[in-house]
Amino acid sequence: MIKRIGILTSGGDAPGMNAAIRAAVRTAIAADVEIYGIRDGYLGLHQDRISRMNTLDVTNIIGRGGSILGSARFRAFEEESVRREAIENLRKREIDSLVVIGGDGSYTGALRLTEMGFPCIGVPGTIDNDVHGTDFSIGFDTALNTIVECIDRLRDTSNSHKRVNIVEVMGRHCGDLCVSAAIAGGADFAIVPEQPFDSAALFRSISQAFAAGKRHGIVALCENITNAELLANDIEGNTGIECRATVLGHIQRGGVPSAQDRILGSRLGELAVKLLIDGIGGQCVGIVNGELTHNGIAESIKSLPRKFDAKLAALPLRLA
Ligand code: ADP
Repeated sequence: MIKRIGILTSGGDAPGMNAAIRAAVRTAIAADVEIYGIRDGYLGLHQDRISRMNTLDVTNIIGRGGSILGSARFRAFEEESVRREAIENLRKREIDSLVVIGGDGSYTGALRLTEMGFPCIGVPGTIDNDVHGTDFSIGFDTALNTIVECIDRLRDTSNSHKRVNIVEVMGRHCGDLCVSAAIAGGADFAIVPEQPFDSAALFRSISQAFAAGKRHGIVALCENITNAELLANDIEGNTGIECRATVLGHIQRGGVPSAQDRILGSRLGELAVKLLIDGIGGQCVGIVNGELTHNGIAESIKSLPRKFDAKLAALPLRLA
């Protein structure tokens, strides 16, 4: 029978992580299980920065972005000896299992701990939506809404000045955020990692739109594909139309979590603790077709990062 659970947030933070922490803490306490917050992800776990949480620690956090526990990247956790020391910090407090909120890197850490006999549950927390086993990860919806608001602002000024604006968004290996933002933001073109970038089609689309009388263009660009400033120069050179680049960067990661992310975080945080109480570890939780679900962490990370919805990819261009 599980008596004490640890909880941490790891990797890139995401709005809605606090809702998951709140739900996990309150679910544990309601079941008479002690819960311990670990600061700054696996780094704080290794440095022994662990303290017991009570229900008042999670009051007034559901509307706050980021993570009240802090997050970090800590490459040394890939070493077994470091993980063994981290497990020791948990064992000495008689903590028997761990909730890990993060992306696929954090899931790998959780899987390694589970393999070393320390059961973990992974909760998908990343704006990139690149985690398998769930249709949506916590933070995706908020980030998407933030990006769309930025695109709306950029469209206003692009339209006044007859310009094209490139908007670079996050997504690492997954174009979900980019394509979704392109559709919701009325962009003319989306450049995503899952598809070869056809620059000729981009230049053609912009030239035709402006020739037909359009006064603005928006190009949604996923990070790590090409340099946004250089692409702006290319667009100007190939179309003769003025182009500006805006890299949204970490603006996308912060801010008040949307209602969707608060609900998702609450549901997944509760499920994670319930699974551990039922003696189930080595799983990651998710939502598929509106239903809560869980799968082995091993299966969820053995394939490449989750890809975007290909059906949506061509929509911005078709509607341009
Ligand atoms: P995310 O969880 O958002 O994908 P990262 O890929 O940066 O973010 O991973 C977060 C943390 O997870 C890393 O800093 C590291 O502490 C841990 N981690 C990542 N890969 C491994 C691994 N192969 N073994 C153990 N821990 C890992």
